[in-house]
Amino acid sequence: MSLIVQKFGGTSVGDAERIRNVARRVVATQQAGHRVVVIVSAMSGETNALVALADELGGPERSDREYDVLVSTGEQKTIALLSMAIHALGHDAVSFTGAQLGMRTDTSHSNARIESIDADRVRKVLDGNAVAVIAGFQGTDADGNITTLGRGGSDTSAVAVACALEADVCEIYTDVDGVFTADPNMVGAAHKLAQISYDEMLELASLGSKVLQVRSVKFAMQYGMPIHVRSSFHEAEGTWVTREEDVMERLVVSGVTYNRNEAKIRVGGVKDTPGMAGALFGGLAEAGIVVDMIVQNVSHDGSTDMTFTVPKPEYERAIQLANELAPTLGGDATVEGDPDIAKVSVVGLGMTDHAGVAAKMFDVLAQESINIQMIGTSEIKISVVIEEKYTELAVRALHQAFVEDGASEPRSEG
Ligand code: ASP
Ligand code: MG
Repeated sequence: MSLIVQKFGGTSVGDAERIRNVARRVVATQQAGHRVVVIVSAMSGETNALVALADELGGPERSDREYDVLVSTGEQKTIALLSMAIHALGHDAVSFTGAQLGMRTDTSHSNARIESIDADRVRKVLDGNAVAVIAGFQGTDADGNITTLGRGGSDTSAVAVACALEADVCEIYTDVDGVFTADPNMVGAAHKLAQISYDEMLELASLGSKVLQVRSVKFAMQYGMPIHVRSSFHEAEGTWVTREEDVMERLVVSGVTYNRNEAKIRVGGVKDTPGMAGALFGGLAEAGIVVDMIVQNVSHDGSTDMTFTVPKPEYERAIQLANELAPTLGGDATVEGDPDIAKVSVVGLGMTDHAGVAAKMFDVLAQESINIQMIGTSEIKISVVIEEKYTELAVRALHQAFVEDGASEPRSEG
C-alpha cells in the first residue's frame, strides 16, 4: 500500500465546488488502495487579502508575530472545509493545523524554516483509515508562536511532510498542467515536460517560474522525494521532478524563462584594490539586500566598475545605500541605476555535454537586434540581462531556436 501526499494550491480549492472536487479526488485515491495525506493552501486570493489587511492596520511597523497569526488563518479555513467535504462523501478525514501536526520551525516569522515534523500523529490517523488534511504554509517555533514559511510555502510543507512520512510521491496539484518549456501565456508553442531533474527545476524556480517554491525543490532533492506537478482539473499526467539519473532525456535546453523583477545598478570609478567589492557588497548584505548577478569590468587607470542586479522592490534602497557607500570605495565612485531590465535564461542538463549553447543564445539575440547587458552562467544555465521591453521577443526567439527547432545540435565552436 503506497502513501501519497497530495498538495492542492489556492485555485484548486478556490470555491466550494472546487473543494468538493478535491474531496472526490482524494477519496478516489484512497479507494484505489493508497494512504492519503493532503496539504492545502488558502483559497485563492485569501492570503493576499489578509496581507492587505495587515498592511492597512499594522503599517510598516506591524508585529511579525501577529502577521503570522493572521496570515496562517487562510489555510486553517481550508483544512476544515475540505475535511467536511470528505465527511459528506461518507469518508473519514481529520484536519491538522501546523501546531497540531508538530511542524516545528525556527523563529524567523514570515520566512521560517522547517526543523522537524512529528509524523506519529498523522500515522495514527492513517492507521485508522482516515485521510489526514494538513494546513500548509505554517508551523510553530519552540515557544509555540505561529510561524509561516514565506509566500508559496505550502509546496514546502507538502514536500517536508512527504519526506517525514517517507511517502512514495508528493503530488502538487495546481492550475497548470505541469512544468512548461516556457510561459505558455507568452509562447504559444511551449509544451509540458514529462520529466525534469531537481537541478533544472531549482534553476527554473529561482529564475522566476512560479510552479514550485524554491525551498520545496531543495527539500525534495535532499531526500530524493519525487514530485509530480499536475493539474487539479483533469486526470492527465503532469511533470515529474526527479533525480538526474531518472531523467530519460537530457535536453540541451529544457526551459526558457524570464524574470522582470530585478533592477540593475552600476557603480563606476571604484578603485582597483583589494577590499572594494567586499566593502560594497558587504554593505548591501548587511542591509539585507540580496544581490543576484555581478559583473566587474577590466580596470583602466587603476579604477574599475561593478554592475549588479537586485530585486526590484529593493531598488531604491540599494541605490541610496550604494551612494552612501561610494565615498568608501577609494576614489570618486559614481552610482547609476536602471530598473527597466529583464533577465532571460535558458536551462538544461544537456548543456554540460554540448559546446556552443552560449554562442547560439547570443547569436539568436543578435538576430533580433537585442543587446546583451550582462551575462551569467552556471553548469546548466545561461542568463542574460536585456532591456525589459524585449523580454517577450527574446523568450520567443530562444524558445524557437532551442526548443522548437531544438532537435538540431547547437552550432559547434570549431
Ligand atoms: N497561502 C500561502 C500563499 O498564498 C501559501 C501557499 O499558498 O503556498 O503564499
Ligand atoms: Mg503555489
